[in-house]
Amino acid sequence: MKPRQPRVCVECGKSILSPGGTRTVTCSEPCRVARLKRLKHASYERRKQTPEFKVAQAEYVASIKSRRAQDPAFDAAQAEQHRRNVKNSVERRNADPERRAMHLQKMREWRRLATPEQREKFLTASREWYAGLSAEERARLIAGKVEKRRQQRAAAAGPAQ
Ligand SMILES: [Zn+2]
Repeated sequence: MKPRQPRVCVECGKSILSPGGTRTVTCSEPCRVARLKRLKHASYERRKQTPEFKVAQAEYVASIKSRRAQDPAFDAAQAEQHRRNVKNSVERRNADPERRAMHLQKMREWRRLATPEQREKFLTASREWYAGLSAEERARLIAGKVEKRRQQRAAAAGPAQ
């Protein structure tokens, strides 16, 4: 009989102590879930590159666009959903200091390299975004900026005596 090869987890590299079966390739439930997630993501990324997917995607986008043009209630709901998605993703990013710093760095780089047309497009989008905020959201935005300036002034003044 052949001795069993010591097997290692394909996710984390730790050895698999008690393989549930001969096909077990991960060491634990979290690694099993992580592996499935990784494989699923890779498969989706591959599928995204196929011509069939691109055609289906373009058709879907066109159908949404035409429905938005014909149905004002649907258009408003889509715009609202989009605003919520953007807001959530910005909040998630800003909650992570590392991701926030990376984003600010990217923005600085973009500003340095942008053409006047790109700047104008960005400004137009920013104005539209601001116009879409509720009074409450605007008040919160301004309060955040005031607080940030206060902190910057306090930091510039040095430690209090
Ligand atoms: Zn593992």
